[in-house]
Amino acid sequence: MNHSAAVLAVISEAYVAVTGDGRVVEWNPAAEATFGWTRDQAIGADVVRLIIANRHRDSYREALRRIAGGDPGRFLERRLQFTAIHRDGHELPVETILTITGEVVHALAHDVSVALRGSRFIMVEAAVLRALAEAPSSDDAAVRVVEALGVRMGWPVCELWLFDPDRAALICIARHNRARRDLTGFALPEMARDSGLPGAVYRDGRPHWVPDLAADASSPRRQAAARVGLRVAVGVPIRSGPQVLGALCVFGDRAEKSDTTLIGLLSGLAAHVGQYLERRRAEELAIDLARTKDEFLTLVTHELRNPLAVILGTIALLDDDIAAAERHRHLGIIETSAKRLSVMADDLLDLARLESGSLEIRTAELDLAGLLHESITSAVIAASAKDLTVRTDLPARLPVTGDPDRLRQVADNLLANAVKYTPRGGTITVTAGPDADRPGWVTWAVADTGIGIPPEERSRLFRRFYRASTAVAAKIPGTGLGLVITRTIIERHHGTIAVADTAGPGTTFVVRLPREPLTR
Ligand code: ADP
Repeated sequence: MNHSAAVLAVISEAYVAVTGDGRVVEWNPAAEATFGWTRDQAIGADVVRLIIANRHRDSYREALRRIAGGDPGRFLERRLQFTAIHRDGHELPVETILTITGEVVHALAHDVSVALRGSRFIMVEAAVLRALAEAPSSDDAAVRVVEALGVRMGWPVCELWLFDPDRAALICIARHNRARRDLTGFALPEMARDSGLPGAVYRDGRPHWVPDLAADASSPRRQAAARVGLRVAVGVPIRSGPQVLGALCVFGDRAEKSDTTLIGLLSGLAAHVGQYLERRRAEELAIDLARTKDEFLTLVTHELRNPLAVILGTIALLDDDIAAAERHRHLGIIETSAKRLSVMADDLLDLARLESGSLEIRTAELDLAGLLHESITSAVIAASAKDLTVRTDLPARLPVTGDPDRLRQVADNLLANAVKYTPRGGTITVTAGPDADRPGWVTWAVADTGIGIPPEERSRLFRRFYRASTAVAAKIPGTGLGLVITRTIIERHHGTIAVADTAGPGTTFVVRLPREPLTR
């Protein structure tokens, strides 16, 4: 091998040499990487057919003829840009420099798509900011953001995912399908909160780059992506302060190594989206708060006045002449009503703390099995008063890192609900153990055979003051606050709580917790 051949074999620029009629006579390894054709396939082939998009072929053929014919015009020895086509069909912007020796035209070329991204991103950013300023709603803003990314950056598919606490899942708020590909099987409306690229970004709160989707065993959309022709995927988190709200994901049609500049640029866009959502949420919260105040007034009039009326009415009966047994019974009634008021006051205080963000989670290593045993022991009296059987299936120890007081509050609340909403003679079953589906997680369930919650009402359960029709019909007192508090505590532990999709009578709440708190 002579010197120049040795150099051409190692340089990162694609070297292509062609005769005047466009036949390839030399093609180095970088040309193989840039255009996708091997040296053997390229040598002797027509360069215009090989690497020039259909619509430009005639003009390039003409230019080549002129250069080789000794009329190079402005083409020689200066940087030129053209759009090449890769063997797999995607187009790429290429910068090239040409020179000629005798009958042979030599080209050194490199793919500038990554370099061009920076300048294109400035336009995308401007378009995104405009979209966020002008969009009449969050949904509309999301659509415009993915459109700006898709149209201006050329990514075939762009998606914006947000976590929906009511469904405990990630929802695709907007998807742009630039080339209108058939996305059957890929365009999912909803994904589990830790599933696929959006799930990984949401869970870890950091960018993820999947260089080759086909090789990514963790992606449920791997096969669908291959069918659609999507190869590379990048996702960055959308945040509101420390909280991760969702993920912005883009999908490309060629495998690509991780590019920190692109991740940085996408993260910048995601930050704009996060700030926008934060603003909108603040507005929505203000509306929500005004509504909550009305609900609070209704609650005060109904829920607080009832036990107070009972207390005052019973006190009025407590004159000096009444018998000891009667007095004891009256004091019992007063105590029950006072306790109800006290629980409600605690719940309201907790809720106020949650809303002001001052509910602190102090984590320590603890044994969840022991904690559940203690909670069950303290519920036994209430359960046996209703002839309820309490079954347990707990391991000897179940270590997790969490806030012992707050997790105890969750355990007590779920058990108290099971006792409260299960008629006499029913059964409550508490189980816990390592999560079979997710290494490093534990799962705990409280199941009862009680009045149940209609499936269509289950998504509303975790809203403030919401009470299921079954509870209201059975006239069982309650505030609809316990589950809101419970879910917030579990989410502060980066876990999930949901009502299991059971058809039969009764209700099962399932909690899932990471053994170690996740850092976000
Ligand atoms: P509360 O029990 O004070 O009303 P929660 O927030 O704890 O408030 O529960 C909200 C609603 O969820 C309840 O009003 C009830 O309708 C329903 N619920 C909770 N747990 C159960 C259960 N184990 N069985 C049936 N319904 C339940």
